[in-house]
Amino acid sequence: MIAATAATATPAATTATTMSDARRAVLSVDVELFRHTPAYRNASGTLDDPSVGLEGARFLREAFARHDARTTAFVVSEVAEEHPGAVGAFVDAGHEVGSHTHTHRLLTDLSPDERREELVRSKERLEAVTGASVAGFRAPAFDFGDGHFAALDAAGYAYDASVVSCRRIPGWYGGEYDLHRPAPATAVDPTASADLAEVPTAVFPGIGLPLTGTWLRFFGVRYAILGMRLLARRGIAPVLYVHPWEFVDLPAVEGVPKRVYVRTGDWMRRAVERILSTEFSFVACEDVLADAGLGGGSRTGSAGGGTDESDHGEA
Ligand SMILES: [Zn+2]
Repeated sequence: MIAATAATATPAATTATTMSDARRAVLSVDVELFRHTPAYRNASGTLDDPSVGLEGARFLREAFARHDARTTAFVVSEVAEEHPGAVGAFVDAGHEVGSHTHTHRLLTDLSPDERREELVRSKERLEAVTGASVAGFRAPAFDFGDGHFAALDAAGYAYDASVVSCRRIPGWYGGEYDLHRPAPATAVDPTASADLAEVPTAVFPGIGLPLTGTWLRFFGVRYAILGMRLLARRGIAPVLYVHPWEFVDLPAVEGVPKRVYVRTGDWMRRAVERILSTEFSFVACEDVLADAGLGGGSRTGSAGGGTDESDHGEA
């Protein structure tokens, strides 16, 4: 079923680009620890080691290096403060760093002042720790409320990556958006600043479920790769996401649902190796935005690298 992929596909919208340009993808990383997950926060048990998950970030950096891949790491800034070396290593390797808030609390659980604080302080702290400019933001659990884009604009971000146009998943998210490729943020919120862009997360065409996260672990790596190829045929660079804690052997914690543990650890390591071994060229969100003519914004850090994904890094 996955055979005979799109060696022949040349989507009309991208006829001017090369084959490798048409086959770009983003395997983004939401750099949070196991203790930041809602499943852990809602559980009765506790971890002995608050850094569970960090080792997965090292695995991912090494995997990206092996495959000459670039990524965007959306980092919870308290992780950057606790483990500056682990986060700085992403920048040193030429990756883009974006914000995933300071504490990974759900934005819609917070007051407007607290939300603003999460956006402003995380950007400041990440820039202080890494020395790189932070242009992108992704909300924990893709959860954001009214006034989100105004707050992002005021905090100086250039783009948001918190939209996932999936089908409605009861008790979770979805059903709200129908955006499948990078666009001005006004496509999500007509009142958004014209300077802001949106980079939506990939969903499987027709099925309407995300290609990664829990869905990769439930449906398998062929599901994710097939979805990527179907999107590429439509001229869309798929944007996937993974978490470092999915790549370690998680300790059993009282009250964390079994589904959270499914295929974490070695299975996910093999899955990501297979995804990175596909014909796609893996780039950062800012690269995909630039391809869509939506670059610019406030970035100052890695704008010079041009087409060579493996040589952006000056830290
Ligand atoms: Zn998260």
